[in-house]
Formats: sequence, C-alpha cells, structure tokens
Amino acid sequence: SALAEEELITPPVQINYTQNLINGQFVDSASGKTFPTYDPRTGEVIAHVAEGDAEDVNRAVSAARKAFDEGPWPRMSAYERSRILLRFADLIEKHTPELSALETWNNGKPYEQSLKSELPLLVRLFHYYAGWADKIHGLTVPADGNHHVQVLHEPIGVAGQIIPWNFPLIMFAWKVGPALACGNTVVLKTAEQTPLTALYVAKLLHEAGLPPGVLNIVSGYGPTAGAALASHMDVDKLAFTGSTSTGKVVLELAAKSNLKPVTLELGGKSPFIVCEDADVDKAVELAHFALFFNQGQCCCAGSRTFVHERVHEEFVEKSKARAQRRVVGDPFKKGVEQGPQIDSDQFEKVLRYIKSGIESNATLECGGGRLGSKGYFIEPTVFSNVKDDMLIAKDEIFGPVQSILKFKDIDEVIHRANSTRYGLASGIFTSNIDTANTLIRGLRTGTVWVNCFDIFDAAIPFGGYKMSGIGREKGIYSLQNYLQVKAVVTPLKNP
Ligand code: ADP
Repeated sequence: SALAEEELITPPVQINYTQNLINGQFVDSASGKTFPTYDPRTGEVIAHVAEGDAEDVNRAVSAARKAFDEGPWPRMSAYERSRILLRFADLIEKHTPELSALETWNNGKPYEQSLKSELPLLVRLFHYYAGWADKIHGLTVPADGNHHVQVLHEPIGVAGQIIPWNFPLIMFAWKVGPALACGNTVVLKTAEQTPLTALYVAKLLHEAGLPPGVLNIVSGYGPTAGAALASHMDVDKLAFTGSTSTGKVVLELAAKSNLKPVTLELGGKSPFIVCEDADVDKAVELAHFALFFNQGQCCCAGSRTFVHERVHEEFVEKSKARAQRRVVGDPFKKGVEQGPQIDSDQFEKVLRYIKSGIESNATLECGGGRLGSKGYFIEPTVFSNVKDDMLIAKDEIFGPVQSILKFKDIDEVIHRANSTRYGLASGIFTSNIDTANTLIRGLRTGTVWVNCFDIFDAAIPFGGYKMSGIGREKGIYSLQNYLQVKAVVTPLKNP
C-alpha cells in the first residue's frame, strides 16, 4: 500500500516535559523508573516519561493537600482565580501550533483537527470556566422557626482525576477547568498512551500564575498510579473518564477507601437513527462523521447506524462509497481525515471485532483490514445486515467500523436503540417534528443530537444514563461535582 512507502512528516515541536509535576516542580518518579510513549504512525518510541506509582501519588496528594489547606488558592479572591485561568487560556491560544503538533504526534489524530477544532475548544473551555470562578455562590433559604439559614458552596478539597487517551487536552479541560474554578486543588493521572500535552499545558498554567501544588500531574499506568489515586484516603473527590469496566474498578476502590464521591464518564454504543424522510446524502455524511470522527475513538461514537427500510438500500451504497473515499494517512498531512489508532492493543482489538462481524455473517461492504505495514492504520470499514445480537452491535469497538441496521417503525427503533446497557448519546436525522419529538423523549441517553452530532460546546452538559456513567461534565452541572454544600443556621435575636 502507498502508506508503507510514504515519507512521514516530522512533527514541528519538541518534547520538553516528561517528568511528573509535583508542587510546581517537574521531578523524576520516586523509583527513578520511566516508561516509553509512542508515535502511533510508526509504533516507535518518541520519549521516555517518568513512571509514577503509589509513592508519587502520595507526594502529589500531599502537595495538593497542603495547597488546599494552607495555600492561597481556595482563599484568594475568586476574581484572581478567574484572572489566572483567563491568562492560561490566552497562553494556550498563543501556543496552539506546538500543542496541536504534540497532541497529534502522541495520539495520531489529524493535525488539522487538533489545530482548528480541539485547541480552539480548549481555549474556549478555560475561558468558560474562568467565567464561572467569580460567579459561584450559595443561597439563603427560608426555614420554619426563627432562624437565619445560609447555604455556603465551598470547594470540596483535593480532587483526583483520571483521564483517557482519545482527547488528552479536551479531557484535561473538562476535569481541571471546573475543579480549579471552584477553588479545589488537583492530582491528575493522564493516560499512559498520551502523557505529553497535559505536562506542556501545566507549564503554561504555572506561567499564568497558578500557585505551586494546586495542579499536580502524575504520569503512569492505571493499576498502579491510577489505582493509588482512586483509593487514596486523602483525596476528597474522584473524577474518571474511561471504559465501563475500569469505571467499576475505580468506583469500588473509592468505596473501599474513604467513600470519596465519584463521577464517571464511561463507554457507549450510541444509536444514530436515519428516518424515512431523510435527505440520504446529508444523512450518510453525518452518520459517517458520527462514527469515523477521531478514528472512531469516541465514547459517544454513533456506532449503531439504524436506517429506515425505505432509504436503507441507497444509504448503504452511499455509506460504502463515502467510507471508500475517506482519506487515511499521516495525520500531519493536509487533507488527511483519519490517522492511526492509538496503540497496538486497540489496533488488534478493532481487527478482532471486524473478524467477529464477518464470522457472524454481517455483510462486509468495504474495508476490513489494516493499511500499510507499520503503525496502527485501519481501513474505514462498513458492515450492513447487522443484527442486534451480534457482538459488533453490542460492544464498544472504538475504531473505524460502521454497523448499519435496518428498521421499520419508530417505536421499534426506540426499543432497539435502548436495548443496551449504555446510554451516553444518540443522534437522530429527520425533519419531521413529531418523529423528532417522539425519539427525543423515547431515547434514554445523556445527549440527543438532532440533525447534528458531536457538538461539544463548553456550556452543554455531557454524561451518561445507565452504565455510561454517573454525573455530568461541562456547563453549570460540572460545578456541582467540585462543591460541598454547607448549611449554616443562626437563631434570629428579635423574633
Ligand atoms: P482504555 O481501555 O480506553 O485504555 P481505561 O478505562 O483502561 O480505558 O483507561 C482510562 C484511564 O483509566 C487511563 O488513565 C488508565 O490508566 C486508567 N486506569 C486503567 N486501569 C485502572 C485502574 N485499575 N485503576 C485506576 N485507573 C485505571
């Protein structure tokens, strides 16, 4: 294949930060160990990163504890916190080209996507949370009897946060943004596949004036560093994004240690429903985007494409043609729509699901194999004749594999769309307002995108029903995760 002989573009950025960030300093891990991080285009090592373990997590939590209990952060004026976050957002904006390059180098997503959509969203998210910092306040409430009752909203303390590799910087913002805006301190564990960009932006955050110890970052593996954070007795709150199976593990670790409250953003198997009135060309394009965006590595990917029988045949033909036109290659090249999968584990897993689809007699319309001979590139793959009980219709594949299912009527498709343990998101495509309203109310998912998909503004809450998670991130809802509620009751002197 052409990919194998292609000359890869050298990423226009250097890797300067590979150590853990504890109490405002970049430091080696306590054990002195490092782990490799890779370029998914080639599978080659691009840097060795300090490998954090329980001892590093202890040190990071101590720093965060001290910064919370004694430091200026929770006590400085909210306006000052807001100013620091605003300066940080401006610094990110200034460093957009390098950060985009580093994100693409470590993750494999198209550079254009990093540069034109993810970095601007990152800036927007921090402007948004900076805006909240000085607008968080409590209530006074009427109560029976002669009492003056105030409800204070206070920061919760030390937040432990564990993030995945598919959107390293965006996940950083969803977690760190609201935690800092509310006056908490943080220990963040990045995904072992993508440790680099969080360290880079953390450096900028300190340049913007963040006091030491307020944000600490430990790189390392889940069962070691991640588990140490989830079970730490001095962490007051845990926020996790990742797979449903790991979500169960961290929830249990939190329960078994100090009962820290946990928010979880987990897996999905989101339906994308194309109704009979659909403009097929537009529906094909949107369904394609809903599944293939970010190499299919989205928790909310529209991974069950339900198509009404009246438009089904045309839809399948056109979806196949669209997938065959998808440009796969070096994500640094202009016009490339799809880069490699993140690592060999994910690559192998996706290929196993493709094999399972073929074995269960779904129709392989196109794709189905790897592309090139190095790195983790997979052909855009489309299956039709997919049935609800096939593995490819039930499990989260997390790759460029579209499954098309046929339906007859709205009640049937609502029932089938909801017949999953997940409930993260759904997409519907129709211009019939009655059909839309019936679907919107029937679907048990945290987001319903109507004639659009993957719209992720800072103010829109995101999270899952059922086994897709607990709680919401972004928007006003995200603040609740990082605030304690204190009721203050004072007798009134002159009844
Ligand atoms: P994926 O399968 O997409 O890698 P995971 O849920 O395993 O998803 O990973 C998401 C995040 O959870 C990563 O930062 C990972 O290191 C972390 N993690 C994995 N296992 C554990 C664990 N046992 N305890 C805490 N964190 C974990």
